[in-house]
Amino acid sequence: MRPSASSLRVHERMVATRRSDTHIELRLRRLLHAAGCRYFVDRSPLPGVRSRADVVFPSIRLAIYVDSCFWHGCRLHGTWPKRNSEWWRAKLNDNARRDREVSRRLRRKGWLVFRVWEHDDMAASAKAIVAEVSLLRETTRRVSA
Ligand SMILES: [Zn+2]
Repeated sequence: MRPSASSLRVHERMVATRRSDTHIELRLRRLLHAAGCRYFVDRSPLPGVRSRADVVFPSIRLAIYVDSCFWHGCRLHGTWPKRNSEWWRAKLNDNARRDREVSRRLRRKGWLVFRVWEHDDMAASAKAIVAEVSLLRETTRRVSA
């Protein structure tokens, strides 16, 4: 059964996590933007894939997801809430399974999928993404030339 939102600790945690997700994502976007990248935000990369990537580069088929340690079950910092533990375990396992499935579907369609963890160094992640973007742009140009 779904834990009620009146379970205050859980609710607080959800709100706090959402806030920190937004914060991390903004940080990454700011870094990418400063490096000259232009992209779409919070959109589904492919029709039929019910998942919104945080940053999308449609022309080079690059999708970036920023995953929070809690919601996406990071092996280093993911924790299992003790209360309603079964529900949480199922829920968090489901999230992880959906993440893998979405990545697989996108890759099958020729997309490159980057998953950045909340605990990753955002500056380093942004740098890697920028390098990938210019590489993909170069390749795309050569193919279409
Ligand atoms: Zn983590």
